[in-house]
Amino acid sequence: MEIVLYPHPALRWKSKPITQIDAELRRTVDEMFELMYEANGIGLAANQVGLPYRLFLVNPTGDPEEADQEFVFINPEIVSRKGSVEGEEGCLSLPELYGPVRRAKQIVVDAFDLSGEPYTLELDDLPSRVVQHENDHIDGVMFIDRMTDSAKRERADRIEEFETVFRSQQSTQDVASDEELKKRLKELEPK
Ligand code: ZN
Repeated sequence: MEIVLYPHPALRWKSKPITQIDAELRRTVDEMFELMYEANGIGLAANQVGLPYRLFLVNPTGDPEEADQEFVFINPEIVSRKGSVEGEEGCLSLPELYGPVRRAKQIVVDAFDLSGEPYTLELDDLPSRVVQHENDHIDGVMFIDRMTDSAKRERADRIEEFETVFRSQQSTQDVASDEELKKRLKELEPK
């Protein structure tokens, strides 16, 4: 498992609900937490590791020692959004790129945990922002899509660099073609 970089097609995939919470899924989540901490992240969505699942995980502290701050969101739904606030974001699939994104200030999110139990969280500030960012990932939406045109324009060169690197890896066959990657995503969708 590895974190895929923009413009990998997994990052543009609208993921499907998970139908089975089992030992395999728990192993997947453990691996994802490991990858997230290695990359100094505070959230990671299944799409970012090439899995078309409605699943993401968050630890707003980014500290593996603070395991009580770890949250796993399975088939999440943001059921309420209040207020609006701009803040700086980054993304493990666009390393070293940061920019301002306007998000709801407070949200209420429903999800299932790894035992298959439903839960509801009311979130504010950073946790609210991280969950909105990750929830976008499972719909195939990236934080650069939510930047203002001028903010995106200022970062156009960096974004293009990611595209150039990815396309050149495809041309040397270090990375499969978009068509092949999409075929794999389709096969991995929960049944
Ligand atoms: Zn991200």
